[in-house]
Amino acid sequence: MSRNHCRSLWSIATNSTLRSVGYAVLKDGNPNLKEYFWKNLDDVQKANRTVASVLTNRLERFNHNRTDLVFLWLQMRVAQDYADKCSLNKLSDFSVGAAFGQYIQGNSRRIFAFAAGTNSESDSCAIARHGEGGALATLEAKLRRFVPTIAPHIDLVVVSSSPCGACRSEIFTNGHPDTLVITFNPDNTISQADTIGNLFPIHENTEVFKPIKKTQIPKNLLRKADGELRLAQRSRYEGKTNTQNAIAVQTRTSLFGIPLKIIFGGHSIGDNAFWSLLSTHSILAPLTSRLKENDVIPVNAVCYSFADIPQTHDGKTLFFPSGRDRQVLTRLPKKTKVYFHINARDIYYETTIEKLIPGAFTV
Ligand SMILES: [Zn+2]
Repeated sequence: MSRNHCRSLWSIATNSTLRSVGYAVLKDGNPNLKEYFWKNLDDVQKANRTVASVLTNRLERFNHNRTDLVFLWLQMRVAQDYADKCSLNKLSDFSVGAAFGQYIQGNSRRIFAFAAGTNSESDSCAIARHGEGGALATLEAKLRRFVPTIAPHIDLVVVSSSPCGACRSEIFTNGHPDTLVITFNPDNTISQADTIGNLFPIHENTEVFKPIKKTQIPKNLLRKADGELRLAQRSRYEGKTNTQNAIAVQTRTSLFGIPLKIIFGGHSIGDNAFWSLLSTHSILAPLTSRLKENDVIPVNAVCYSFADIPQTHDGKTLFFPSGRDRQVLTRLPKKTKVYFHINARDIYYETTIEKLIPGAFTV
């Protein structure tokens, strides 16, 4: 395969009719897109008949018509094709294609900018980039270069598997609560279609974060989490992203057949940048290391103590555990209760892992 195949894919296209989807892709002049379109013309036409009818039912509440959906499906297929050829997947052994889109102009004839990305993994998990991250970086770079009058942001995401917690966090930060995320199955059916506001709930959502009284949290669990918080390091970006937090988990084990309840504690260390250790990871890694790949950690409850409500860099979004923390939490049973104590304000919330990262348990 020549490196030419792995140039970043990007296009500006319109969706006014299915015919013009093809036309726009061709007009773009990108040989990869042009080649893909003609090679898969049968699939595109099939999608018009079958995929769209399924998608339209699922997505009419987002005001997308049949043509939009075929167009989005095509973007995903092009992204996945790119991923199959170009992903560096030495750790995960699978390729993820993602395409991030932005409306350039609205009204009856929508114009989109789209960029595709794929996973890129080094020998270390810590410096792996996911498909979504690749698409985001390309979209931002291309828009700055070719349409500098428009500030890059994300309106649409199509991806070949459900975004992990870290990627949800990135989509949320770089998009808006109504940014639409669509996930397709390999057989072209849709597996997920929702807004990132629902897929990455923030704390104002009381359906997810239910305010509770202190007495509703198991006493030992709360005491452990609060104690760990004293050891947690403050973020280097204090005032911008205050993520100083600690976690306690209550798990079950047995000694000669006698069931025991044990509480472990962990806390955040580092600067909230690349190399920092997340509290969730610090506590779950030793538990995870004893298990086989698909084992579920026998945890009953998790409690977080936060120094204060964490904020993102722009100061406008407030949310509980970061996407990377939520990603680690998906190793626990989905109904596991998660409690929060906002230390400085002495307020308490309750949720479940399933509510924190909905749609992550679809296997
Ligand atoms: Zn990801």
